[in-house]
Amino acid sequence: MNRDAYLDLLKTHDGYWDMVVIGGGATGLGCALDAASRGYKTLLVEQHDFAKGTSSRSTKLVHGGVRYLQQGNVSLVLEALHERGLLMCNAPHLVQNQSFIVPNYEWWDGPFYGVGLKVYDLLAGRLGLGPSRWLSKSETLARIPTLEPQRLRGCVVYHDGQFDDARMAVNLAQSVADAGGVPVNYMQVTGLNYSGRMIDGVALKDRIDGQERHVRARVVINATGIFADDIIRLDQPTAKSIITHSQGIHIVLDKRFLKGETAIMVPQTEDGRVLFAVPWHERVLVGTTDTPVAGASLEPRPLEEEIHFILKHAARYMVDDPTRQDILCMFAGIRPLVGAVDGKKTAAISRDHHLEVSQSGLVTITGGKWTTYRKMAEDAVNQAAMIAGLPENECRTRNLRIHGWLKHVDRRDPLGAYGSDAVFIRRIIDTHPPMGQKMHPDLPYVGAEVIWAVRNEMARSVEDVLSRRTRALILDAAASMEMADETARLMAQELGCGPQWQREQVLEFRRLAQNYLPD
Ligand SMILES: Cc1cc2nc3c(=O)[nH]c(=O)nc-3n(C[C@H](O)[C@H](O)[C@H](O)COP(=O)(O)OP(=O)(O)OC[C@H]3O[C@@H](n4cnc5c(N)ncnc54)[C@H](O)[C@@H]3O)c2cc1C
Repeated sequence: MNRDAYLDLLKTHDGYWDMVVIGGGATGLGCALDAASRGYKTLLVEQHDFAKGTSSRSTKLVHGGVRYLQQGNVSLVLEALHERGLLMCNAPHLVQNQSFIVPNYEWWDGPFYGVGLKVYDLLAGRLGLGPSRWLSKSETLARIPTLEPQRLRGCVVYHDGQFDDARMAVNLAQSVADAGGVPVNYMQVTGLNYSGRMIDGVALKDRIDGQERHVRARVVINATGIFADDIIRLDQPTAKSIITHSQGIHIVLDKRFLKGETAIMVPQTEDGRVLFAVPWHERVLVGTTDTPVAGASLEPRPLEEEIHFILKHAARYMVDDPTRQDILCMFAGIRPLVGAVDGKKTAAISRDHHLEVSQSGLVTITGGKWTTYRKMAEDAVNQAAMIAGLPENECRTRNLRIHGWLKHVDRRDPLGAYGSDAVFIRRIIDTHPPMGQKMHPDLPYVGAEVIWAVRNEMARSVEDVLSRRTRALILDAAASMEMADETARLMAQELGCGPQWQREQVLEFRRLAQNYLPD
């Protein structure tokens, strides 16, 4: 999947696209894959990079959502558990079974969460990942030796899924391409075009060369997440907002704070949220918060009180209390929530998805979760196909293998997350062995991954490579800054760019990465 090749396909396409999807996050990529795999001529455009928005900033869980069970939203949990099971089958190279403990510090925690998690097991049915059960204090500490032992009575252990969100997004874009669709990043929708009162295309601006063009579409899907209102207002300038923006942050810590392979789930924090501490790529991811924010941003910043909140809660469950100096990276994402009620906490707003169609035929799909992206896409494409008068082709994504599909992956293999593409990266190393050397002693990434990302994954900036093709920025922001020079040099060779481009890229990346570290 090379950007220049797909740009050519966009430029030379004659006539109408059956569907144009705006937004290259989980929702838009899901819609484009659904549409392309049904045989519809599909174009997906993303204004920045795939998963630049909320979709690279999640807790990385493919889960039913124990919290939604607490809130009594059984239908959402059922749907999400079903989707979790499908995703594990369709992308086994990326989704893994992760065990979690709910630590019990009060006598009633055990029976209370034990029963709740048995219901969770039951709802998962045959797509369950393993039964939940109670463990004694010593069994609990054997699993997590760094868990706070004072007053600990034991825990309930249960299972959910875990994945790498940005890598999944890239694999979905590649799957769109494999299915005959055309995904293009750095292509922004700047306007909607009409035939009579109905939308029949979009105006596009290439964010790399500045060129503008128009494409025609039988139907347009707005899958722009936190930006959904902006696209709706291109269609209806006086439309009311449908999105409530709620920020969640994570901090990343060294593995010594959470030894072992088991994650911690705290079911009830002070603001009524769930807090997770999850082993991820040899680090620990701790989050999250639920803070109402004024609007959409591609680079939201963690607030001081959010950092304080996470550190304070992490300290309650970890033997070593983490401090600001221990934060390897912190990142924020904004949830596109729909259905705000005045005075209601954002944590209490439903995570169900929302589908609406405007009078001129704009299909907007938003809300939901990464876990349910496939079902959201199925619903949106069903609706869009009807509006466009397309033949009623059946949805095929329930059992569609996602690009890179590989049944058995060695999780210790640094190239394991590439699934079946790993052989091609090894081939680059075979022909040029220096490309197999680590680019930084503290991170597993090698030069061949940079080359692969440019040639086959549409990476166009140092940030694309260090933030989303690899996860260097998220795992260790300071180390990623040290990788910027070499990344820019390798990319410049591939893209045919000069020393000035390299210098600008490095500067730009270092400026951005600084915001992922506490002051
Ligand atoms: C803190 C946090 C933790 C979460 N954890 C989990 C979790 O563990 N598991 C889970 O299942 N879900 C989780 N979620 C939810 C999940 O991440 C989101 O539901 C999902 O990523 C939303 O995807 P999206 O495609 O709708 O939005 P986005 O990923 O934001 O994608 C929208 C895209 O549209 C693009 N766009 C906007 N305007 C234009 C335009 N004019 N032209 C072209 N493109 C445009 C943007 O650049 C953006 O990339 C979490 C969310 C948050 C915030």
